[in-house]
Amino acid sequence: MKQSLIQALQNRLEEGRLLENQPLKEYTSFRIGGAASVLLLPKTAAELQACLRVLSEYGETPYIIGAGSNILAPDEGLDRVVICLRSMAEVRRVSENEIEAEAGALLSKTAVFAKNEGLSGMEFAHGIPGTVGGAVFMNAGAYGGEISHVCKAVTVLERSGEIRELSCDEAAFGYRTSRFENSGEIVLCARFSLIPASSDEIGAKMAELLQRRRASQPLEQPSAGSTFKRPVGGYAAALIDQAGLKGLQIGGAAVSEKHAGFVVNLGGATAADVRALIAQIQEKVKENSGIQLEPEVRIW
Ligand SMILES: Cc1cc2nc3c(=O)[nH]c(=O)nc-3n(C[C@H](O)[C@H](O)[C@H](O)COP(=O)(O)OP(=O)(O)OC[C@H]3O[C@@H](n4cnc5c(N)ncnc54)[C@H](O)[C@@H]3O)c2cc1C
Repeated sequence: MKQSLIQALQNRLEEGRLLENQPLKEYTSFRIGGAASVLLLPKTAAELQACLRVLSEYGETPYIIGAGSNILAPDEGLDRVVICLRSMAEVRRVSENEIEAEAGALLSKTAVFAKNEGLSGMEFAHGIPGTVGGAVFMNAGAYGGEISHVCKAVTVLERSGEIRELSCDEAAFGYRTSRFENSGEIVLCARFSLIPASSDEIGAKMAELLQRRRASQPLEQPSAGSTFKRPVGGYAAALIDQAGLKGLQIGGAAVSEKHAGFVVNLGGATAADVRALIAQIQEKVKENSGIQLEPEVRIW
């Protein structure tokens, strides 16, 4: 990576917010991934915007990371600029029934904020370990709720450095997808339209969903959540279980015994182990059921 690019980026950020050779395993819930040559931790949209303008001048496209809870990063690392948005994490109430959250705000924090404001609708998101930006990108969802149900508008930064607001329709949400998969825009913040309700009832719902999650998911082991999208006409976990793959292990990666939809890192798993296991699961499930599973986890 050019030293002049690193210097130009450094000049746009506060001291200590450009880090070199950062192991991506420390930024992903899978605890897998080699070093990123340069990792930026902008604190404000203005800093991010200034960095993007520099990157655009150098013809560099950065990788974006929120909580890293849906990413499999490569073992060999990335000789690229990775921008982590976790430091942009403010959540505020903007009207009678709306809150706005910056991209790096955790969903758990956003859901608790909504509860404390007596606003219902974010309960489904409380146990999803991602940020608002990653959740908008993925149209994350659980227990019948999803981002598209509550999202009113998304403010984005185009790769050129321009900021604009998109409506929920423009975000083109689909099942675990959105326009951001292809647009290259960075989600800066999202506005959620919620319904006034009792904080106690919202809190009780959140606690119940968290309990269901703890009972069914291997939260004690590193993973990226559900490895595969739900296929038409079935559930990935059930298909994997029916193919007899629970516990199947390659290197340090295994199909969880507790929830067959999760690939977990038993300790020391590499991205190569996980990719090989994903390929084997896809092959065996296809043989057994005729259904082709599609990864939900973003393989970098
Ligand atoms: C234990 C566990 C349970 C989970 N349960 C669920 C669940 O119930 N439902 C569910 O939907 N998911 C679940 N997930 C997956 C994951 O938490 C979600 O997909 C979450 O929305 C990802 O957010 P993130 O901030 O971690 O995104 P990351 O993993 O950091 O990024 C995911 C993708 O979004 C892009 N991205 C991130 N931030 C931005 C941004 N600001 N602008 C543009 N692009 C961006 C990244 O480049 C990447 O392509 C689970 C994961 C784990 C580990």
